Amino acid sequence: MFNTEKYQNIINKLLDNGLEPSTNWNGKINSKTLFLRHDVDFSIDFAHSLAKFEFNQNVQSTYFFMLTSNMYNLFSNYNRTLVKNIAEMGHKISLHFDPSAYESLEKFLDEKKIFENTFEINIEIVSIHRPRLFLNDNNINLSGIAQTYQDIYFKKNEIYI
Ligand SMILES: [Zn+2]
Repeated sequence: MFNTEKYQNIINKLLDNGLEPSTNWNGKINSKTLFLRHDVDFSIDFAHSLAKFEFNQNVQSTYFFMLTSNMYNLFSNYNRTLVKNIAEMGHKISLHFDPSAYESLEKFLDEKKIFENTFEINIEIVSIHRPRLFLNDNNINLSGIAQTYQDIYFKKNEIYI
């Protein structure tokens, strides 16, 4: 289980080494850019407490939520309020998409529209739940939207300065 003290130590080490947390996935990335990402598979309550912890550390991260979770209902009034509050703390919120829930990847666009309308945001980055086949071609995007397994976020390349 998550341990706040250990997480604090990790955050401190990253910050002490000059890394700079960012939620601007499509902005300029350099060797100091740090994307902290939370794929929320189980508990929005827990995500919310983590978001508060990070907020108190003055650290912003990105929270990805599922529409197809068996563990939570993203659209309950209570959970929508928590997710909006996470965004209000300065964190980014977006979609944690499970491609195995559908026959066609095009269904991503349905989820995207629902998520954007519900939370009044524009999705610019997606995290894929259990990517499996996506790892064969990790640079694939979803209907033009970037996803977190792309090389740009994992590999050193010419864009780093
Ligand atoms: Zn997941």
